[in-house]
Amino acid sequence: MDIMKVLVAEKCGFCHGVRNAISVAEGILAEEDDVYSLGPIIHNKDVVDRLAKSGLKTVAKVEEIHSGTVLIRSHGAAPDQISRLKEKGLNIVDATCVLVKRVQHIASELEGDGYKVVIIGEENHPEIRAVVGCAKDVVVIADESDLHKLPSNARLGVVCQTTQNPEYVGRMLGAIGRRNFSELKVINTLCREAIKRQESAVRLCRRVEIMFVLGGLQSANTRRLAELCERVNEHTFHLQNWDELDKSVLSGKNTAGVTAGASTPDWIINEFVSNLEVYDHSDG
Ligand code: SF4
Repeated sequence: MDIMKVLVAEKCGFCHGVRNAISVAEGILAEEDDVYSLGPIIHNKDVVDRLAKSGLKTVAKVEEIHSGTVLIRSHGAAPDQISRLKEKGLNIVDATCVLVKRVQHIASELEGDGYKVVIIGEENHPEIRAVVGCAKDVVVIADESDLHKLPSNARLGVVCQTTQNPEYVGRMLGAIGRRNFSELKVINTLCREAIKRQESAVRLCRRVEIMFVLGGLQSANTRRLAELCERVNEHTFHLQNWDELDKSVLSGKNTAGVTAGASTPDWIINEFVSNLEVYDHSDG
């Protein structure tokens, strides 16, 4: 019988922003029946399904809500969405992470101070969409192919998606700095919690033969963890939970590392680790 030695990253799983959003949701659901989340409360299907069983209705658009209480998720919402919810007379409970709120405030302040707002991040991520809604005209830079969107001779005010990797942001800032601008102001909006998870995942995946990154496939911070680990350890797998594991990948491996994104609950991590620790993979 072959048993795997399993090491868990020092820093992984729920961050304070996600923990707060879930506890706010649970608090409202304990008292009210008609509760909506504008978009999935966090990017984790298991958590969304569990809260749905407690009554939380997840909708994609403001137009789908006609009554009750609306929860603003940790990624936030754009000001025009909030205004439309208010116009409908709905009760709004804001669980936007304070660090995401900070990016929104900074973007609007930069624009007020005459800067062209630039954000380094993924265009379609809800956090970015909400920030884009906080200023009249925001340039989103996902990678070098977006640099052409930068205006010439402008005063650029740059922020970044909270869960970006610092090295990547540094590289993009270098690329932006080589363009034609009159002033460049950069405000660090990276989340320390996300950075600590990245550093701890990379340290761990150097020490193991196989690495598992647990979390939602839509979760930007989890995908970032998986990308960073893949660069160091080619045997890296991004999974949502134990059921998704193709057990044949364990064959011939004796040490495994486990990390998880900021939206992955402890129960998913614990279940994965305890199953992996007792799984006999001698036959693959
Ligand atoms: S990862 Fe950071 S920015 Fe995102 S919700 Fe968690 S604490 Fe907030």
